[in-house]
Amino acid sequence: MRVLLADDSMTILKVVGSLLESEGFEVITASDGVEAAIKAFSERPDLILLDVTMPKMNGYQVCRLLKNEPATQAIPIIILTSKDQPREKFWGYQTGADKYVTKGFDQGPLLAAVKELTVGRAEAAAGLAEPSGDLIADEFDILARSNDLLDAKLFEATIINEIGKLATNLSTFQETVSGLFDLMANLGTFSAGVLAFSHGEEGLMLVKVLLNVDKGYLQDYRHYLEAKIKREHPESIPPAGYSWEVLDRAKTGIIPDTGEAEFDPQATCTVFLQSKGKVVGLLSVAGDKKRALRMDQSSLELFGVHGTVVVENAWLYEQIRQLSITDGLTKVYNRRYIEERLKEAIRLSRRHKASLSLVMMDVDHFKKVNDTYGHQAGDDVLKHLMEVCRTSTRATDILGRYGGEEFILVLPETDSQGAQIVAERIRAKVEAMPFPTCAGRIPITISLGLATFPAVSIDTAEAFIKAADLALYRAKESGRNRVVAYDPKVDGLPQEE
Ligand code: GH3
Ligand code: MG
Ligand code: MG
Repeated sequence: MRVLLADDSMTILKVVGSLLESEGFEVITASDGVEAAIKAFSERPDLILLDVTMPKMNGYQVCRLLKNEPATQAIPIIILTSKDQPREKFWGYQTGADKYVTKGFDQGPLLAAVKELTVGRAEAAAGLAEPSGDLIADEFDILARSNDLLDAKLFEATIINEIGKLATNLSTFQETVSGLFDLMANLGTFSAGVLAFSHGEEGLMLVKVLLNVDKGYLQDYRHYLEAKIKREHPESIPPAGYSWEVLDRAKTGIIPDTGEAEFDPQATCTVFLQSKGKVVGLLSVAGDKKRALRMDQSSLELFGVHGTVVVENAWLYEQIRQLSITDGLTKVYNRRYIEERLKEAIRLSRRHKASLSLVMMDVDHFKKVNDTYGHQAGDDVLKHLMEVCRTSTRATDILGRYGGEEFILVLPETDSQGAQIVAERIRAKVEAMPFPTCAGRIPITISLGLATFPAVSIDTAEAFIKAADLALYRAKESGRNRVVAYDPKVDGLPQEE
């Protein structure tokens, strides 16, 4: 069994060397870091003992280099030093050393470490193939390799740092993923990238398009990835499957089907993403038949490993945010958030001189529904009412629960006439079809009040809501199951109350 002992102190070389020899080890010595590295390559010892402070290269640098080279990776290393500071110890282990032993009068700990690391070493070494010829390294070679390694580590640390910044700079899940692709674009060339992410029931495939590709390309890419996941990690597919979403749609160059940039499965690079030992998605980039893909597997892996944490956190953050602005029963916005959105809509409407309408609705004789069919059936009625509203409005309309069975609908860029049409459509739909509930189908009607901005007496969100509420009150008074528009002459001014 051969031990390489590197220390710049002759005394240590002598003392520790003879101690090891007395234990039956053959000892090779080196008195600086470069010599230690050269001998590690040429002699391939069974164990290496490194001092920290040595000329030319210190022990940490030698250790990091040897642990990174395939030829010397498997050799156990003990860092031997008089320093016993936590910081020194931390850095020692970060270099990949197997043990860290403090020099002292008591040689017990050192011998124990040496024995532990050499036990079973003879058998392990016998199983290894003899190294091939290119191991002989000279001083320049050692320094160049060490330099390359340092540069690679710095590069890696810089990327990790940049990925980490995504977590603090951006807020939404989509923005975070988009930012990750922007970062990747600095290091490679690809036509499009996809991040698939699944969490619980849901799965998303977010697509970033960086160079012109057409819809056919994206379709082929999607099928390729879905087949790959199914083949390699079917357990990671969420129950509801993956939805597909293009990031920053407005800015990207998706062109009509021209067949110009054809998807090429050969020009793809993909890594699976893992969290807590489970596959939670993948990160993929692709070129096309004309433009080559420039992104190597190891860079992509770096983004995959460190990006997963950031992406996952952004996802969780968004979930929590959603919960805090959503009504638990009906899944529409809650009162606090709908008020916030209304204020924002008023600001926009002022700036763009566009009209803005507000509809307030309330279920007729809802108390009776609860009394007759039970509270659970009442809940089902409210849920179904929001379904009806969702399917009767535009994506830009904002729906929220204002109180128990009162709901608000904000209609941007909609004048009074337009709002009348929407409100009447909802009213008629509700009346036409009894609501499905746990207590069977229940006939329901609703009353609606609407107000439109700008108007003389409506200049705040509170007054706006109050005006719609006054109109709703009149709808109730005049017989329910109807739409009434706010009229200051009849309803009075909203501020008066
Ligand atoms: P009107 O036609 O005048 O609106 O009569 P109404 O019975 O609907 O009027 P009111 O506002 O007095 O009654 C509202 C009822 O809605 C009272 C309350 O118990 C019920 N309610 C409020 N929130 C919920 C809920 O989340 N679920 C259920 N099931 N009932 C609710
Ligand atoms: Mg009611
Ligand atoms: Mg009510």
